[in-house]
Amino acid sequence: MSLVQSVKNVRAVGLLSGGLDSALAARLLIEQGIEVIGVHLESPTACRTEVREVARELGIRLEVRPKGEEYLRLLRHPRFGYGRNMNPCIDCRVFMFHLGRPYLEEYDARFLFTGEVLGQRPMSQTRPSMATIDRESGLEGWILRPLSAQVLPETEPERLGWVDRTRLLGIFGRSRREQLALAERYGLRSYQSPGGGCLLTDPAFAGRLRDLFDHTEEHETSLEDVELLRLGRHLRISPALKIVLGRNADENRRLPRFESRGRWLVEPVDFSGPSALVCGAAGEETLRQAIDLIVRYARKTTPEGRVRWRSGDGFRYRTLGEPAGARPLAPGPADGALPIISRNAP
Ligand code: SF4
Repeated sequence: MSLVQSVKNVRAVGLLSGGLDSALAARLLIEQGIEVIGVHLESPTACRTEVREVARELGIRLEVRPKGEEYLRLLRHPRFGYGRNMNPCIDCRVFMFHLGRPYLEEYDARFLFTGEVLGQRPMSQTRPSMATIDRESGLEGWILRPLSAQVLPETEPERLGWVDRTRLLGIFGRSRREQLALAERYGLRSYQSPGGGCLLTDPAFAGRLRDLFDHTEEHETSLEDVELLRLGRHLRISPALKIVLGRNADENRRLPRFESRGRWLVEPVDFSGPSALVCGAAGEETLRQAIDLIVRYARKTTPEGRVRWRSGDGFRYRTLGEPAGARPLAPGPADGALPIISRNAP
């Protein structure tokens, strides 16, 4: 059977991150006549990408689905441990293949592929790690990595002649020269710039995540808590209290959406300064700490400047010059005035 006949109607599902490597992997297969379905897995620990643009540029169908709460459990308890920061890469890859696998059946596709490059990441992109990931996914032999295929063991799609191995690549290592040249050749423009990607590999973000895990019970941690780590200046005041300050007007605008039962917002009303999202119980002492921080990071304040916070259906106000405790905020125990113990501001 000729190659053209053998690849006729072969479909493959690719994990598309929005970065260049997975776009190139898809492009290499499309070039061989394989129909590609892209699957993008969203999570609050990933950089935002223009993945829909990438799929449009490739002319492929795209499925987007969240990694979900299950991913949080994985982040806390990775079986294969963490990389340099809070990146549990081996567990994460296994998990992603697990989420991608149902699309094989849905689209009657034959195999999965990724844009992974051998030797590019120290934890998950070594030969032994890739072998572990394939085995743990239950997809041994059915995960193709087109960018490094020629330096990896032959996979079933290659052995069966669905994919021409000689037209795949043998890229190895961290240099991106070859990929950038290919992007140029294929006219790919929409991909996320190299160096972006996973926030779990970022030391500042990893510090915030560790702090969250250290101070929140597992059953009380939500994806929204992790989403909140993406913005603001996070100040750990005490084990039960963290205050997040907006660093600019955009962050001040976004903070209110994180208000909830355990989080309340204190914001400047008639002076320019950061909003403070208080993650902890309401209390006079907590309010004082939030106001102190707002004043510390504000450009300019006057004693007449006011802050406000939500109370029932409306707002309550406090002028900066008003002595603390002059009007109790709400009944309930006050937090102790502990010093700031960590500043994770990037
Ligand atoms: S870098 Fe991040 S997204 Fe990629 S495998 Fe590691 S943990 Fe997962």
